[in-house]
Amino acid sequence: MLTPCPLPSSGPNGRDWRTENPGKVQSSFPCRIPPAFASLIAAAENSGDAGAADALKRQVCPSPGEGLITGNERSDPLGEASHCVFPRLVHQYKNRVLLLSTGRCIGYCRYCFRRSFGAGNYGFISDEETEQVCGYIAGNPEIDEILVSGGDPMSAPFRKLEALFSKIRGARPSLLIRLCTRAPVFAPEIFTPKKLKTLKSFRPLWIIPHINHPEELGSAQRKCLSAFIDAGIPVQSQTVLLQGVNDDSGILCRLFKDLTCLGVKPGYLFQCDLAPGTSCFRVPLKKGLSIWKELRKELSGLSLPSFAVDLPGGGGKFPLSVAALVENIVSCTNNELIIRCDDGKVYTYLI
Ligand SMILES: *Cc1c(COP(=O)(O)O)cnc(C)c1O
Repeated sequence: MLTPCPLPSSGPNGRDWRTENPGKVQSSFPCRIPPAFASLIAAAENSGDAGAADALKRQVCPSPGEGLITGNERSDPLGEASHCVFPRLVHQYKNRVLLLSTGRCIGYCRYCFRRSFGAGNYGFISDEETEQVCGYIAGNPEIDEILVSGGDPMSAPFRKLEALFSKIRGARPSLLIRLCTRAPVFAPEIFTPKKLKTLKSFRPLWIIPHINHPEELGSAQRKCLSAFIDAGIPVQSQTVLLQGVNDDSGILCRLFKDLTCLGVKPGYLFQCDLAPGTSCFRVPLKKGLSIWKELRKELSGLSLPSFAVDLPGGGGKFPLSVAALVENIVSCTNNELIIRCDDGKVYTYLI
């Protein structure tokens, strides 16, 4: 059973943020606020940055808004079930598979798109399921990447993850492993030098941390990300665009610049998926597109992530950057591309 982690005391204003949103939450989705994240909230409150404190709290504190299920929301918003080869293995794109290693997390993000899987009902993948998965990747050489996700793989005892990675390596010695986790923000302290050494031994391996706000990069989190880089483990982040958290080009700019300076490539900015009870987090498409256009002006190619949406029903990731720029395309034919740039001038590429 999951129990909430110890929480910090109330902020300087005397209010206790744990009980600020006591409204009835219809969902059985667990609440768990990891100590490292609680410290970030406390630090934001103590520094008087109420906006940042709220942005962090919103992500982990249940709110009455979760009780509202809108007609467009689905328990499997990405349609992953239609691409499952085994209950925990999604093979949607030809050359890469997604493994749901566990349903558990270190902390529970209220906007989770896999909340029906991640409600704590599913533990770490069993030996039998691991055998099945390894047999499948061994028999399908067109697969050259495996995303190990969940839940959060780092919520499991590390020896279990190590055993899983060993079996994957046994099945496919050069398969690229992507470790998708929120642990660098929620529990940076768990990445000890010994664990980093173990992770490094499984290269090729990338770490894909989920990071949404610049104030999630406290000193412990920065140290953790830097340790990956120092260990020679490449890192690409992903971010979810969230109302009341980071739906502001200034905040996102700061986040993506800070990440780049730490050696982390901002990979994806995701439109929030249509999971039940997450409407209070969704940013209207038009606003998202306009935020991304701002980012494109402010950030270098290195710092700018792809803006994408996972199409409901199993359509996969679609680049929203295309939708943001469609107005700029005057014509695109076999041998001619005509673009109206933001400076108002028209440019032609002819072959
Ligand atoms: C996102 C995702 C991937 C990885 O896609 P990339 O574009 O390579 O990041 C693979 N499989 C599934 C099912 C996914 O949702």
